[in-house]
Amino acid sequence: MADTIDTDVAIVGAGPAGLFAVFECGMLKMSSLLIDALDEVGGQCAALYPEKPIYDIPAHPAIDAADLVAKLETQIAPFGAPRLLGRRVVGLSGEAGALTLTTDKGDRVTARAVIIAAGAGAFGPNRPPLDGLDAYEATGSVQYYVRRREDFRGKRVVIAGGGDSAVDWALALKDVAASIAVIHRRPKFRAAPEMAARLDEAAASGAIEMVVPYQLHGLEGEAGMLTGVTVATLQGEQKTLVADVLLPFFGLSMDLGPIAEWGLALERHHLPVVPATCETTMPGVFAIGDVATYPGKLKLILQGFSEAAMAAHAIHPIVHPGQALHFEYSTSKGVPG
Ligand code: FAD
Repeated sequence: MADTIDTDVAIVGAGPAGLFAVFECGMLKMSSLLIDALDEVGGQCAALYPEKPIYDIPAHPAIDAADLVAKLETQIAPFGAPRLLGRRVVGLSGEAGALTLTTDKGDRVTARAVIIAAGAGAFGPNRPPLDGLDAYEATGSVQYYVRRREDFRGKRVVIAGGGDSAVDWALALKDVAASIAVIHRRPKFRAAPEMAARLDEAAASGAIEMVVPYQLHGLEGEAGMLTGVTVATLQGEQKTLVADVLLPFFGLSMDLGPIAEWGLALERHHLPVVPATCETTMPGVFAIGDVATYPGKLKLILQGFSEAAMAAHAIHPIVHPGQALHFEYSTSKGVPG
């Protein structure tokens, strides 16, 4: 059902940066609203790697991505920010103090300021160019994300790719899958050295079959149910690996989608911002998290959190013109009961 909602700050994207922006806005007495194209909050953490531990969240030596999202939910609960989920923001118009967003479901949101926390935009996997791929995707024989390790118990899994995801998931699934084969076009992996060394160990012990230097060539099966994956060398040498599931990990495509049409300056699919405020080239419109760029930017969750704080402070004079903002620690202010 389409809604029309008015809020102080409309937040586009409910990944970790967008979620924390609700907290920062709330602490400065600004209402906010979250909009996300996905049906659940958490962005990449929820959609791509909920069961993976994250090790660089301050004060959490290790926290599973899904737990981080759950804790952010608890932290922002006092502010009761409404959410429009399963809705992509398609339009942005107006000026600072009076902006309007529209979604693909016909919602209209009016806001004093906008925070774009859209991550990689409408993120999607890079799909391998294989005949009949759609049918195998439809049955789950070809998947691009591991939501639950248990889904792969007893399965013959073929993983393709040479980066962190390929290596991490090969290691994480080897104890539940019936077999794991890793296809990569070169012997060297672009993964964290420690994980690459663990992959070598697993290969040496026979726990993982390394299929290098090979590339994906074709899929075998019937009615979308995979039975084998054909691989080939650059010289055309082919072989077929038995398989129930293929997991291609060729990275995410960065597609800002409608955001690229809003008249904001773009830099290689990112939104350049003023580092001190996170304001984009459009007054009243701010960008934080993975989508924002400036010299020295790190695409890390912790950086998105700090950008949320900076953007909220910069937005305060737009929402509360003429009111001085006295910097206060959360320990002095407390949070709403
Ligand atoms: P995202 O999490 O990408 O969320 C953006 C949201 O915006 C999405 O939910 C998307 O649906 C929504 N959106 C986009 N466009 C629109 C639109 N037009 N309308 C509505 N909604 C829209 N980072 C770390 O700091 N430490 C790690 O250890 C770590 N490990 C990682 C492991 C993996 C496998 C991956 C893939 C990433 C990892 N990252 C890690 C990166 C981290 O997940 C990202 O930096 C973080 O998710 C960025 O948060 P964000 O809120 O900016 O964007």
